[in-house]
Amino acid sequence: MTRPLLLALAGTRPEVIKLAPLILALQGLEGFRVALGVTGQHQGLLAQALSDCGLEAEFDLAVMEPNQALGPLLGKILSGLEEPLRTLAPAAVIVQGDTTSALAGALAAFYQGIPVAHVEAGLRSGNLAVPFPEEANRRQIASVARWHFAPSPDAAEALVREGVPRERIEVTGNTVIDACLAQAADAQIPPSLALPPGRLVLVTLHRREITQAPDVLAGVLGAIASLARNHPELAFALPAHPSVAAAAERALGELANVRLLPPQPYPVFLALLREACLAISDSGGVQEEGPALGTPVAVIRAETERPEAIEAGGVVLTGLDPTAIEAVAERLLREPARTPSFPYGRGGASAKIAATLARAILADA
Ligand code: UDP
Repeated sequence: MTRPLLLALAGTRPEVIKLAPLILALQGLEGFRVALGVTGQHQGLLAQALSDCGLEAEFDLAVMEPNQALGPLLGKILSGLEEPLRTLAPAAVIVQGDTTSALAGALAAFYQGIPVAHVEAGLRSGNLAVPFPEEANRRQIASVARWHFAPSPDAAEALVREGVPRERIEVTGNTVIDACLAQAADAQIPPSLALPPGRLVLVTLHRREITQAPDVLAGVLGAIASLARNHPELAFALPAHPSVAAAAERALGELANVRLLPPQPYPVFLALLREACLAISDSGGVQEEGPALGTPVAVIRAETERPEAIEAGGVVLTGLDPTAIEAVAERLLREPARTPSFPYGRGGASAKIAATLARAILADA
C-alpha cells in the first residue's frame, strides 16, 4: 500500500520559513510521504527561503508577473493547482497563513474534496480591509479548512466566535518559533556586513498599505531618516523588500549610518534581529520573532492581528503617522534591554501539528 501523502503549499518567503519546521517534523513520522509545492507568488524571495531552509519543491507554478492584480493571481494559482492535486492525490493539503497562494491552495484542495490543514489559523485584526487582502484571505481559508492550528488561545477563540467547531481547533503556538529558535542560536552577523551588535536598528517594510501608498511610504521613510539623523551612534540596517528598494534608496541612500541591504538569508536576518536594540517593521513574522529574541519592535501598522505580542510587552503599534513612528521608536530605544517572551509558544508547534495530522490521516486510511 502506498503511504498517504501530505502536501504543503507555499507561495512566499514567510510561508516557506513557517512550514519548514513542520515539513521536517512530518518527515520524521513513519507511514507518510511529505511534499512541498510552490506557487512562485514571490519568486526571488521564495527561492532564497527554500535554499535557507534546505527545501526542494515537488512542483513550482511560477505564477509571478510584475504588478499582477490579485484576481488574476488567484485564478492562475487555482487553475495551476488543478492538475498537480489530481496527480498527487494528497491525503491532506497544508496551507500556512493568509496569502493569495494559501487561499488558492485551500480552495483548490477543497474543490477536489481534499481536507485542508490551516497553520496559523485564527489571526484577526477585526478589520476586513486591514491588512489587505490577508484578513479576508484567512477568514475564507477558515471557512474551508478541516484542521485549524491556532498560534494562541485568542486566535482559537476568534475561530470559535466565527462558528468553527472547537474540536477542529488546536492551540499549538506558532511554527515560526520552532524555525526561529532552531536557526537563531548559532546565527551570526557576517563580518562583511560590518554592522555593530547592540547599536543596530533593523528596519523592514513591505506591506501594501505602505508600499503602494506613495505619501504614506514617503512619511515612513522620512521618519526612519529623521531617527537616523538624530542617532548617529546607531547603525540602521534595512534589508529591502523588492517593493520598497527604489524608494528606500532615494530617501535614505545618502545617510552615512543607514545601510540598505538586499533581502538577507533567514539565519542572517535572525542574527540581525537578535543583536538589534530595536526593530522597526510592518512584518507579521518580525512581531513573532522579536519577542522570542528579546528585541523590541515598533510595528508600523494601524492595526495588528497579533495583539498577544503587544500584551506581552516590547511590541508597540505606531500607526502610520511619521511623528508617532519616531516617538514610539525613541521610547523603545530608551527602555532597558528586554528578556525574551513567548506569546506564540516556546516552540514545539510543528511536532504538535504533525502528530495531530498523522493521527487523523491514519484513522481515515
Ligand atoms: N526575513 C528574512 N530575510 C529578510 C527579511 C525577513 O529571512 O531580509 C524573514 C523574517 O525573519 C520573517 C519573514 O521573513 O520570518 C517575514 O517575512 P515578511 O515580513 O516578508 O512577511 P510577513 O511576516 O509580514 O508575512
